[in-house]
Amino acid sequence: MTTSEELFERALGVTPGGVSSPVRAFGSVGGAPRFLASARGAYVTDVEGREYVDLVGSWGPALLGHAHPEVVAAVQEAAARGLGFGAPTLAEVELAEAVRERVPAVERLRLVSTGTEATMTAIRVARGVTGRDRVIKFAGNYHGHSDGLLAAAGSGVATLALPGSAGVPASIAAETIVLPYGDVAAVEAAFAEHGPTVAAIIYEAAPANMGVVPPPPGYNAALARIAHAHGALLIQDEVLTGFRVGPAGWWGLEAQREGWTPDLLTFGKVVGGGLPVAALGGRAEVMDALAPLGPVYQAGTLSGNPVATAAGLATLRLADDAVYARVDTASATVQAAVSEAFAAAGLPHTVQRASNLFSTVLGTDAGARDYAQVLASEAWRYPAFFHSLLRDGVYAPPSAFEAWFLSAAHDDAALDRVLAALPAAARAAAAA
Ligand code: PMP
Repeated sequence: MTTSEELFERALGVTPGGVSSPVRAFGSVGGAPRFLASARGAYVTDVEGREYVDLVGSWGPALLGHAHPEVVAAVQEAAARGLGFGAPTLAEVELAEAVRERVPAVERLRLVSTGTEATMTAIRVARGVTGRDRVIKFAGNYHGHSDGLLAAAGSGVATLALPGSAGVPASIAAETIVLPYGDVAAVEAAFAEHGPTVAAIIYEAAPANMGVVPPPPGYNAALARIAHAHGALLIQDEVLTGFRVGPAGWWGLEAQREGWTPDLLTFGKVVGGGLPVAALGGRAEVMDALAPLGPVYQAGTLSGNPVATAAGLATLRLADDAVYARVDTASATVQAAVSEAFAAAGLPHTVQRASNLFSTVLGTDAGARDYAQVLASEAWRYPAFFHSLLRDGVYAPPSAFEAWFLSAAHDDAALDRVLAALPAAARAAAAA
């Protein structure tokens, strides 16, 4: 039998770091990553045949659980009709209509293949529409790996960012203003200084890429108010939260209720049901700046791919209120058990949640409200916690800074396995 260790060795010889995307390498928890062979419902199985309760959910898409039979059937039927045409299809119209039905702020939707493309294009649209170049983002918010959005670790209020990655030209990074998260005064100060040159504010609807850091009450609404007062657009990134935290994503939990509207929203993950579909949408007059109607260019050979679109459409059609209720309940159960386990182990901690998304901040009862506070936590205790869970058949996110993802397939049997594994893992973290 081939082991994950052997496969990792082999992978290291042929692909950088042995993985197709960095976090998969277990870099922050150590050890060889599990090479997975299959996934079904709440479980993933590695190449050695070991089964784990999965709390990663393909990093978000698996809202219904893995390989839901009806989604797989929709994909198989679509594949049998052809793998791709490079021409418009009915399913694309249906998917766009399904998104608009849930999120009426999306008057027009353009399908792309990755969240990175969605945010990159949203920014191009904002620049094209406003005729301005600068973009404001927040430290610790992740929007994919396009050049301008990698600027992350801001060196202070309203400072122009350094590139967050080698290979990003300083001239491009200089167009990104990185601000600390959650600080309305910092946003006002940045607009006071740079207002007429700012095309957009982009923000995670509820940040979940520095661990989960829920937006303070009124924060997103304040971003909307400030951006619009200065003629800038508001780009709400719901790649992670969209159709996961509720039927209409974070927009449905907040903006709709409070009566304000982002100009553009970006989606990914659940909207593709596990296959490569992402999207950007928003007000018709803004979205219609895209080619072929307008001067902002964007295109894709694989955009709206019929097989991928079938997975997204089937997933949205199946994701009814009962699904969200189940995900919420499963998440609440694990959140409570995680907290109880750390308390019993005597480890100060905070479980931070945004609806059914959550993560833990270790070493403090005070939580973390921005990236600096997240980095100051005792995340070094997490690898011991993670590996104890893994040994006991629970596949948690391989980083303290990633959200935990539950699914509607996490039934009591799956949750019981997680609950049984938590106390020893928490003690390992406390002893680290
Ligand atoms: N935005 C957010 C909020 C994300 O969480 C991610 C991916 N984790 C992206 C954008 C980028 O999406 P992708 O990995 O599909 O390019």
